[in-house]
Amino acid sequence: MSDLIKDINFVGEEVDKKAVTCEVKVTDNTAAEGQRKLYIESYGCQMNFSDSEIVASVMQENNFGTTNDVEEADLVFLNTCSIREKAEQTVRKRLTVFNKIKKRKPGMIIGVLGCMAERLKTQLLEEEKMVDIVAGPDAYRDLPKLVGDVDEGDKGVNVFLSRDETYADIAPIRLNSNGITAMISIMRGCDNMCSFCVVPFTRGRERSRDPHSIVQEAKELFEQGYKEVTLLGQNVDSYKWSGEENNKARLEKKEKEEEVEEVVNFANLLEMVAQVSPELRIRFSTSHPKDITDEVLYTMKKYENICKFIHLPVQSGNSRVLDIMNRTYDREWYINRIDKIREILGNECGVSSDMIAGFCTETEEEHKDTLSLMEYVKFDFSYMFFYSERPGTLAEKKFEDDIPEEVKKRRLQEIVTLQRIHSAERNALNVGQTQKVLIEGYSKRSQEHFQGRNSANKVVVFPKGNAQIGAYAHVKVHDCTGGTLLGELVEV
Ligand code: SAM
Ligand code: SF4
Repeated sequence: MSDLIKDINFVGEEVDKKAVTCEVKVTDNTAAEGQRKLYIESYGCQMNFSDSEIVASVMQENNFGTTNDVEEADLVFLNTCSIREKAEQTVRKRLTVFNKIKKRKPGMIIGVLGCMAERLKTQLLEEEKMVDIVAGPDAYRDLPKLVGDVDEGDKGVNVFLSRDETYADIAPIRLNSNGITAMISIMRGCDNMCSFCVVPFTRGRERSRDPHSIVQEAKELFEQGYKEVTLLGQNVDSYKWSGEENNKARLEKKEKEEEVEEVVNFANLLEMVAQVSPELRIRFSTSHPKDITDEVLYTMKKYENICKFIHLPVQSGNSRVLDIMNRTYDREWYINRIDKIREILGNECGVSSDMIAGFCTETEEEHKDTLSLMEYVKFDFSYMFFYSERPGTLAEKKFEDDIPEEVKKRRLQEIVTLQRIHSAERNALNVGQTQKVLIEGYSKRSQEHFQGRNSANKVVVFPKGNAQIGAYAHVKVHDCTGGTLLGELVEV
């Protein structure tokens, strides 16, 4: 598995492996006697990991338990990512490995789920005969039927994108769980059309999940001992729900034409979840600069248990590039949002970003605008990528991918180097301060140390003393590295 992870953290082959991630997760071993065994390998973003928890739940209802050993599996699902080309290549390599195992175990069923499904279904099913099942992100309720089709000797395919599926009634099975932190999906799809991005094509239109089911899920997690939930969506600030309609586009049309009774926006939802318990921390991701409102910032300020951390991807610091990326904001707008965050939530609120180096036609001067924006904001952390053209996107149709790869990589390296300096500077601000930390488990390096995160999402490591996993601790920070704060317990 470590080889695999190396393979996936590709963007930084010559850059910086930590800063540029495409994570992979596999299921734990939970199958009981008599159950068929399901192995899920999930790539990409938190949304995909959260979807795998829904898939595990749907399959458990049909007598499948999970395994972490692909060699033992009766059913193998690859939950795929298409966001950059290399992620797709990695999935293909894994399919080759699974097909070798299948030669020895002919009854094994292989399925591709998620973002690659729609685009590659014909190729994977018919031309290369690499898979038995292809299911898109809105087809997970159909998986037991698709498995049944394969058991009967057919292929199983469903890549229809729904206008209203949110899986609101499905209780996800927590995979790779530490029992303390969990993800809650609050919406699906995306109505933005960033020109570089495949998500609107692979995950469909934006839909918001019933807030009452979200609050219920948060309550149940808290009752089970969880202490932190992360509300997930491609653009959480665009969350909008009413009893009559959960599809954003249709809801907005209805609002213009007639009275819509109860409309819940993201600030309202945050407040509802924050009120589950002051002991339950709330995080959320991802925020879009065009949509994040002052109302959301004031709601964060009002509740101590809403973590002071915002992932606000800027992508580029140059207004012309932002325009052709179709991000619908410019550099000044982004700076204004940062100024508001600092004004309302203070300098200690963590802010992170995503950055794309070498988008079509980006000049050297425009790249420097990204560096100067970084200097202005001083992000705590960033996910940094070089542009990878994706078939079917607006950018592929309209622009030439004209920046040579070595230029893209050099610009990315400059961004990564600057980010490293800023992360260290931001961490150094906490030295000498006492931070409230939710303890998530043992530190990676020592059983004598615990690690957790502060409100601003920084990892804090400290000698465990008499503290308990799952509890809050107050830790005085005495040192830091680029990625971690080091401290001592002052109060439990
Ligand atoms: N919805 C989020 C947003 O709007 O910021 C992020 C979604 S995407 C899964 C995560 C990140 O991948 C993006 O913010 C962007 O930086 C990066 N990304 C998306 N498409 C890309 C492409 N074609 N090439 C390089 N990076 C890309
Ligand atoms: Fe992609 Fe833009 Fe939607 Fe994010 S907001 S998922 S980058 S289209």
